[in-house]
Amino acid sequence: MTAKYGMVINLERCIGCYACVVACKQCWGTRPGVNYNMMNYVEWGEYPDAHQRYVSTMCNHCDNPPCVSACPSQATYKTDEGPVIVDFELCEGCGACVDACPYDHRFLITEDMTTSYEEVVMPCEEKSSKRVNVTEKCTFCYERLAEGLQPMCTVHCPGQCRIFGDVNDPESDISKYIADKKPTQIAGTSMYYVVPENMDRSLVPPDLADAVSTQMSAKNEKKSTSGDAAKKAPEGVPAAAVAGVVGVAAVAAVGGGVAYKRSKRKSSSEQSE
Ligand code: SF4
Repeated sequence: MTAKYGMVINLERCIGCYACVVACKQCWGTRPGVNYNMMNYVEWGEYPDAHQRYVSTMCNHCDNPPCVSACPSQATYKTDEGPVIVDFELCEGCGACVDACPYDHRFLITEDMTTSYEEVVMPCEEKSSKRVNVTEKCTFCYERLAEGLQPMCTVHCPGQCRIFGDVNDPESDISKYIADKKPTQIAGTSMYYVVPENMDRSLVPPDLADAVSTQMSAKNEKKSTSGDAAKKAPEGVPAAAVAGVVGVAAVAAVGGGVAYKRSKRKSSSEQSE
């Protein structure tokens, strides 16, 4: 049977250290603001029964990816083993896949995006800094898999929260882990989460069908509200300036209505306050 790659993230073990985020950025030399791996901080309950956890998210490598159907140049495609990747030679940078992804996990690289230090290109950015007007995303480190290596985020997680491998092989570590821990699969995708007992399912990414339907509702709402905004915009104020606010609210709703807080590190001056 062909291999089908999947990943389990055990939220009971994640301490939100960002090693996965940093390892991924280093490996792929992504630009500031482009994170294939994202760290979300979630909290629920009220004192004295309040809780918090970190929920790391990334491309879910959907079974029937909306991004692939949306691509007009077949630049993005699903490999036989599951990872969804982009052929930069074919990508025209139209951004259709970015709009189509219901999980908001694709990044359009435009000419005005700088590298980390503007004047200096870091060694890890040398290859990626030449890529403009294309879409980037997590590939499950497809090139590394071809060499028999694991994804960078998995290798560098100090809590060993991530288990990656072939879910079609009953003898693989991931299959045994799934049998033992019974994680929640994000239905229609290659991702699984071990969700702590008292944590609500809604705090991890929604199933693909639900994510698509939330995205559709948000788009329809945005369309009708921007229509109203166009009608109501005061003279001299472009309708887009009014509708832009609605756009931000809609993006926050995509992802199953989960009020994720993408956790932000404090700068050293903020920390010393
Ligand atoms: Fe495509 Fe988004 Fe699904 Fe990843 S999560 S396969 S980018 S639709």
